[in-house]
Amino acid sequence: MIASQIWLITGASSGFGRLVAETVLENGGIAIATLRNPDALSDLASRYPPSKLSVLKLDVRNADEIRDAFAQAKELFGRIDVVFNNAGFTLMSEAESASEDVARELFDVNFWGAVNVSREAVRFFREVNNPQGGRLLQASSAGGIESLSALPYYCASKHALEGFTEGLAAELRPEWNIKVTSIVLGSYHTNAGPNMKRPPPHPAYIDADTQQPTARLHLYTKPAAYPEAAAHLICKIAELQDPPLRVPLGQDAVETLRRKGQSLLETAEEYHAWSENVPLMSIEEFLSKLKQQTAGAATVN
Ligand code: NAP
Repeated sequence: MIASQIWLITGASSGFGRLVAETVLENGGIAIATLRNPDALSDLASRYPPSKLSVLKLDVRNADEIRDAFAQAKELFGRIDVVFNNAGFTLMSEAESASEDVARELFDVNFWGAVNVSREAVRFFREVNNPQGGRLLQASSAGGIESLSALPYYCASKHALEGFTEGLAAELRPEWNIKVTSIVLGSYHTNAGPNMKRPPPHPAYIDADTQQPTARLHLYTKPAAYPEAAAHLICKIAELQDPPLRVPLGQDAVETLRRKGQSLLETAEEYHAWSENVPLMSIEEFLSKLKQQTAGAATVN
């Protein structure tokens, strides 16, 4: 099935982006590999003809480059079956250690970049593909389900992507045949480590005795998995007839989903009684109050 698919991949210079591009090509598919520096894929480009691999410049912070990449894909291949929304980086920093600028840059890539690619992908699947349809795969993270110390901004960016993806999936009309899946990745050995931004820790977070930034230490004790197997599983998701909204990839990611689910359930059970006596307004009363508040403009737009 991959053999008949055309993939557009963001952040294809290394890690999952490159591995998924290689897996698609090895299985006979077509890869539109997008990245900030196209030279980084010159070795792969020398091994495949342009009819199989197209390497395009795309910085996901640039909305014009996103539109151009999709326009070039249309010109070259006429359709895109799968978009792997993968570009991203990690910011290791306590909440108080990062400047607002670096935190906003993280969101520009991990959230707004992924959002703008998602919007273009959905439009393309609906308005360009004939027959309509396509698969959008988001590179999410266990950090998008459960936040960890020293990663509050990174986890927030992936939580934001999770929230956006769930809302997007809920509003797509079934007849468009567009399937969206958030891939909850665990910890893998890619270039994410060297590409990570690490502002120096705020002095308050350095232990006086050990001189260590304690909130960061757990990140150096986590085992990482081999990403090649995960790249194959990412391709497998695009082959599922009815892919789920969320797929955990990695034993740690599975554990995160279990732990988070369990903890939410326990909290609901512990506090449900607090809400039982909160009176519910009828829909008529709610709409009437809304109408008063909005001076007669209470229509659903
Ligand atoms: P990686 O090897 O560092 O790859 C990240 C890719 O994103 C690189 O190709 C990088 O390109 C690209 N990128 C960064 N900023 C970009 C921008 N503004 N525009 C376009 N591309 C940009 O790391 P990876 O592990 O494969 O990460 C891929 C995705 O998986 C990320 O979204 C990451 O958050 C997610 N993830 C990874 C892990 C993990 O443990 N590895 C866990 C959970 C989630 P350049 O070469 O130009 O910098």
